[in-house]
Amino acid sequence: MFQRELKKIFIFITLFATIFLIYNLYKSYKFKNTPISKEIKLKIDKKEREVVALIKKHYKINFKVPIIISDKINSKLYGVTFYDGFKDIKIILNKKRLKESLNYILNDVIAHEYAHALMFRFDKYSRDDGHSKKWQEVCKKLGGSRCNKYANSNDILMEKVKF
Ligand SMILES: [Zn+2]
Repeated sequence: MFQRELKKIFIFITLFATIFLIYNLYKSYKFKNTPISKEIKLKIDKKEREVVALIKKHYKINFKVPIIISDKINSKLYGVTFYDGFKDIKIILNKKRLKESLNYILNDVIAHEYAHALMFRFDKYSRDDGHSKKWQEVCKKLGGSRCNKYANSNDILMEKVKF
């Protein structure tokens, strides 16, 4: 009798786990194939306009680069700045991080990556000083709030990557 109950419980747990697994697979599939919501896009656009206005204010230039939302970058990174070494500069935001870290991306990452982009624009970049003092200055001017804390992260891409 007791064994039968146990078997029932076991079957129930297995069934439950399977359903849960399928549900999660479905959720991640759906997330991967769903375009970013309009609301998120509008928030990113608004932030970008603020950063672009700060660039104009501090550096007297009109500077805007494409912001691409992609899930093809390292999932540890929130965003990267891509530079082909000539004139192609792009910011890539990590789609996998957008949902749970939207505020962080809006408040810090966009200004952070734009600071890299601007360094490329001014040709002040070498691979060793991605987060140099000069970069920190730019980052602060663009409204970034944690510009001093990135000494070890590597979020600059100069390899050929297709987004
Ligand atoms: Zn960086």
